[in-house]
Amino acid sequence: MSSNQPPPLVDYNLFDSDLPLRESFEREGASWAHDLVHELGRLAGTQQAIDWGFQANANPPMLHTHDRFGERIDEVEFHPAWHDLMKVAVGHGLHALPWREPRPGAHAARAAGFYIWSQVEGGHGCPVSMTYAAVPALRKEKTLAALWEPLMTTLAYDPGLRPATKKRGVLFGMAMTERQGGSDVRANTTRAVPAGSDGEHLLTGHKWFCSAPMCDAFLVLAQAPAGLSCFLLPRVLPDGTRNRFHIQRLKDKLGNRSNASSEIELDNAPAFLVGEEGNGVKTIIEMVNHTRLDCVIGSASLMRQAVAQATHHAAHRQAFGKLLSEQPLMVNVLADLAVESEATTILMMRLAGAFDRSSDPEEAHFRRLAVAVGKFWTCKRAIAVVAEALECHGGNGYVEESILPRLYREAPLNSIWEGSGNVNALDVLRAMGREPESVNAFFTEIDAARGADPRHDRAVEELKRELSNREDLESRARRLVERMAVVLQSSLMLRYGDPAAAELFCSSRVDRDWGHTFGTLRSGGNLKSVIERHRPRFQ
Ligand SMILES: Cc1cc2nc3c(=O)[nH]c(=O)nc-3n(C[C@H](O)[C@H](O)[C@H](O)COP(=O)(O)OP(=O)(O)OC[C@H]3O[C@@H](n4cnc5c(N)ncnc54)[C@H](O)[C@@H]3O)c2cc1C
Repeated sequence: MSSNQPPPLVDYNLFDSDLPLRESFEREGASWAHDLVHELGRLAGTQQAIDWGFQANANPPMLHTHDRFGERIDEVEFHPAWHDLMKVAVGHGLHALPWREPRPGAHAARAAGFYIWSQVEGGHGCPVSMTYAAVPALRKEKTLAALWEPLMTTLAYDPGLRPATKKRGVLFGMAMTERQGGSDVRANTTRAVPAGSDGEHLLTGHKWFCSAPMCDAFLVLAQAPAGLSCFLLPRVLPDGTRNRFHIQRLKDKLGNRSNASSEIELDNAPAFLVGEEGNGVKTIIEMVNHTRLDCVIGSASLMRQAVAQATHHAAHRQAFGKLLSEQPLMVNVLADLAVESEATTILMMRLAGAFDRSSDPEEAHFRRLAVAVGKFWTCKRAIAVVAEALECHGGNGYVEESILPRLYREAPLNSIWEGSGNVNALDVLRAMGREPESVNAFFTEIDAARGADPRHDRAVEELKRELSNREDLESRARRLVERMAVVLQSSLMLRYGDPAAAELFCSSRVDRDWGHTFGTLRSGGNLKSVIERHRPRFQ
């Protein structure tokens, strides 16, 4: 064994070794799913699953536009490791748990499972997330839902392009973004021409970013006679012929290499109206709300894996005669990272819980605002956390085999997708303007920690003052949303977090006794205990 090289972080249970997750899991009513998530935690720590993650990224998908006879096939071939990852994800219901088992805590249970399994590999989470998110949007069209939902919610991963009726399980994607506009989907130029009495239309146009193009069907936005509308577009038509969904090329992109993102052309492609014609954004926003939750889960997952790796590394690597985990400045960095990870995990589970309880109007209002606030902040923080955790490994963190480069490349995506930072921050303003009840629900949650810490109480008052100032709101949106996120997290940390971590959160993030980089906590706190709480243990 080489001297002074840490043992690989393998054969540990990602659920068991994650105290903030386990505590939130119980609190949000997901304990009935313990065995499922515990098993995912075990699997995620095995060498085999870790290998799948590396193999799927070392062997990117390949596009085959035509067969040997020159006929279009528009197929993407994935490495077997991708299919192994997908089989576990779908087999454990990460694409459908709350729709299969609509019981209290189901979104929270799924969030925990998705967070754990995404730590193995992020790319395959994309179709898993989109399938989960498509169900509530599709339910706006009962006939289509009756046909597709049973297939979207089976535990069978059944890849390959065949008609829905010939499949044991299907996956969904989404296609909104076009060359001339992504955030501004109203600029979509894809046209939908009515072609039948059952909502059938023919779609012609392009989509500039269409991820996971081997999904069985897509929710697509297109301009119908009454305006922008949402359609279900199957890749294979009921008679077994391929729909005219032509993959132009795969994107050569930052981020994971396992998943395919494509540019597509639709050429009179049959698709079916979902929801009211002209109300496409309102329809697809149901899907977007759920994928936004997944952006928070994905960010929490990246942070957790980065912090697990960094705390593990530092506990085994020495420099200047001492373990890194004993060096006071490294202790400061690791504790600061752990605090951020804990605050994110707790927020993620609280948001998932709000999806579970959204039949309660108060929770629905909270969800509307808090998901937008949480997505903006956690996606941004993940980038900084992963970069710093990478540096904790020194040069070893720069090497692909350490997983840190993969996490680093993946980190910016969640902030771009489903509402890039600015658009997301502006959406928070929109939610507050259009749905004042969401502001009340948000403050009810924040106020629940009143009296627990004077720094939190002061921050709440300051936030209220900031929000009542209507001047230059748009320009101040990021500043406001950042503060809303921090105060929401402090409320959660004070009530549910590790007291030592909550104290550090308040002194740094809330009271701003902090620098601009991680590792700038005021010294003297109980930093080592915070790190130990976050360091994964072997079984
Ligand atoms: C890996 C990957 C996979 C993707 N997969 C899919 C997919 O499967 N389906 C799909 O439909 N899309 C997908 N997308 C596209 C993604 O959703 C868009 O890139 C995103 O919505 C931003 O749109 P845009 O790229 O057109 O940027 P633009 O809309 O041009 O925005 C550029 C920048 O301007 C900012 N901005 C925009 N409006 C304002 C404003 N009013 N004020 C201030 N700033 C503003 C944005 O925040 C952003 O930072 C994917 C993207 C990536 C990177």
